[in-house]
Amino acid sequence: MPAFICTTCGTQYPHSEAAPAACAICQEPRQYVNALGQSWTTLEALAHTHFNAFRQHEPGLIGIGTMPAFAIAQRALLLRSDAGNVLWDCISFIDDATVEIVRRLGGISAIAISHPHYYSSMIEWSHAFGAPIYLHAADRRWVVRPDPSVVFWEGETRALLPGVTLYRCGGHFAGGTVLHWANGASGKGALFSGDIVQVGMDRNVSFMRSYPDLIPLDASSVQHIADVLAPLSFDPIYGAWWDRIITTGGKAALSYSVQRYLAAISRPPVD
Ligand SMILES: [Zn+2]
Repeated sequence: MPAFICTTCGTQYPHSEAAPAACAICQEPRQYVNALGQSWTTLEALAHTHFNAFRQHEPGLIGIGTMPAFAIAQRALLLRSDAGNVLWDCISFIDDATVEIVRRLGGISAIAISHPHYYSSMIEWSHAFGAPIYLHAADRRWVVRPDPSVVFWEGETRALLPGVTLYRCGGHFAGGTVLHWANGASGKGALFSGDIVQVGMDRNVSFMRSYPDLIPLDASSVQHIADVLAPLSFDPIYGAWWDRIITTGGKAALSYSVQRYLAAISRPPVD
């Protein structure tokens, strides 16, 4: 039986004879049903038209994304360390070449995902590498393919490996999570932000409840994100796509961006 994947959000559902009636992720206001209507694919079908590409962002950090772009088109990050590798966020497509390459890079010890839009084919990735998947318990209801490999963590922080820690920021989703890599950027620290802290075109950041539907995030949620990240040291911010990266000065960009955002939603512009 196939495991159907939504072509709009990239979420994979449990094995079934017929495609699901609808995609629960896309029917919710933070996503959308494609204008042409709900449609589905499978890993087997995608293998005819797509492949995964790899790109080193800095020593010990390799991006993995699907070509041509599929669904939301995020790329995952493979963080490599002596204590094990972490896959941050996830993508829908995985094939034999991907498994072979990632195994030779040291495999995957743990998978952690920022929010439900990137749950994608996480169960396939987990099974391929025997890796548990760390998801914040506040987003438990959005797991559409339940599996024993999913570990729901609670509270505000979760250490994955030495120097690799998850922080719950909330915001876009109640369990919205970022990853802090203390050894990133040669010891300055790096922030993996998913869509929770969104890297913009001007290499600053912003925050939304719904990105495709342009629904802004409230001020208290943005301030909470700023408060959670204030104690952390980091230089680059790695956003969710290949080109959404603040390569240096991320800490100052975040501080500036929070003030810019809060001002923008609290008063009319002067120009
Ligand atoms: Zn969907």
